[in-house]
Amino acid sequence: MSSMLIFNGRIIDGTGAEPRAGSVLIQGEHIVAVGYTADEQAAGHRDLRRIDARGGTVMPGLIDGHCHVSFDEPNSNDELFFHRRQGLAAIIAARNARTILQSGVTGIMDADSIFEIGIDLRDAIEAGIIDGPRISAGAYALWTSVGGTAGRLIPDSGVMGYGKVVSGKAEIVAEVRRQIKNGADWIKVHVTGLVPRHPLRGEVKSWTRDELKLVCDTAHELGIPVLGHCRGARSITECVAAGMDLILHATLMDETALEAIVTHKVPVMPVFTFQANLADYGATIGVDPTVREMFRREIADSAAMLRRAYDAGVPLLCGSESGFSITPYGDWHYRELEVFVRDLGLTPLQAIQCATQANAFALRMAGKMGEVAPGKLADVIVIDGDPARDITVLGDRARLRHVLLGGREIDLQPAAPRRDPPGWRVSTYGTRLSREIAEGKARPAGPSTPEHEL
Ligand SMILES: [Zn+2]
Repeated sequence: MSSMLIFNGRIIDGTGAEPRAGSVLIQGEHIVAVGYTADEQAAGHRDLRRIDARGGTVMPGLIDGHCHVSFDEPNSNDELFFHRRQGLAAIIAARNARTILQSGVTGIMDADSIFEIGIDLRDAIEAGIIDGPRISAGAYALWTSVGGTAGRLIPDSGVMGYGKVVSGKAEIVAEVRRQIKNGADWIKVHVTGLVPRHPLRGEVKSWTRDELKLVCDTAHELGIPVLGHCRGARSITECVAAGMDLILHATLMDETALEAIVTHKVPVMPVFTFQANLADYGATIGVDPTVREMFRREIADSAAMLRRAYDAGVPLLCGSESGFSITPYGDWHYRELEVFVRDLGLTPLQAIQCATQANAFALRMAGKMGEVAPGKLADVIVIDGDPARDITVLGDRARLRHVLLGGREIDLQPAAPRRDPPGWRVSTYGTRLSREIAEGKARPAGPSTPEHEL
């Protein structure tokens, strides 16, 4: 069994505890000792690999609880739904999985995927066929025929993109069972969606209470947890009552919804990175100021309730929505931690706990990983600088010195640059060309609002 001692580092263990100086001893896949005992035990070892972490931080690899590894950074649902081929999508997803791992992310949840690629990718990684982070995978997201956030692109029945429409109890039960048979670790439900005719109402709950309970009961009977995409108070209250195991987004909570998640301690994953990127950096890519303000407000309006949930003991989990053109792989996985610090007022160590120890739940490996502690899986990163002082160092690839996945060192050499295969992206003629714009009497509008699955 290979052994490794990481010494001279500042250890952030992922539990929220203050950093401390010391060593970490790894044997095979696991961490076996931390601190003085690591040095003591290492003294008796021959063939011990030693990593000097001077000036750096040793901490658990980040876990990104919401990552779309199969999407390949689309600019629209149109691109994602109609311009992708299954084989090519899987090959490209394998490359993207490696990019994610090379950015210090040692685990992701892929809650839904095109062609259910997340499941195949997970199996290929677990079998040692390709390199990538640990994955917990969902299959197709479940929609009712009202749909989710892709408007009329969602058909009245059948599969589209990353989702499947289920109508009536028989279809719900059959689809949940089919997904579990094929290897889903989670069942994902799009509990709310936009009705194109009523955009100002925001997302509406598109499932009945009984349907939600049926999904949960059918999955739980087979030992599989359920997560729900929920924007709006009623969806959250009803999902908790139905027995849902994880609430995505959880925006626009009211007192009743808050009480429900606090009573049942249902973990919540806000996934603000997409909105934060558009709000903060949208101007650089031509996003309309009104849209940017809308996304900024979505975070601001939800922050207080989420903070109250966190203070009342509800596990808060980190997910970045990486996989869209706004959130390319490898660049933004740290970003949700930054938002937690800035907008929810968490300390950097609390944010790190959300993205490591707490997020092991999203991987369905709670207690087995996400911590630098004896007995845990050796998913560890060594990074220059101190994320307890400045959380953004976690986003700086140049600072990442080592990534270990189950005790195995990952090659951080980036892959050669890529291009897009023919027909992979939606091309446009550009923005609307009126006579006034042509004659210089008016300015062209920016790109239209980016559609997002979120
Ligand atoms: Zn998403």
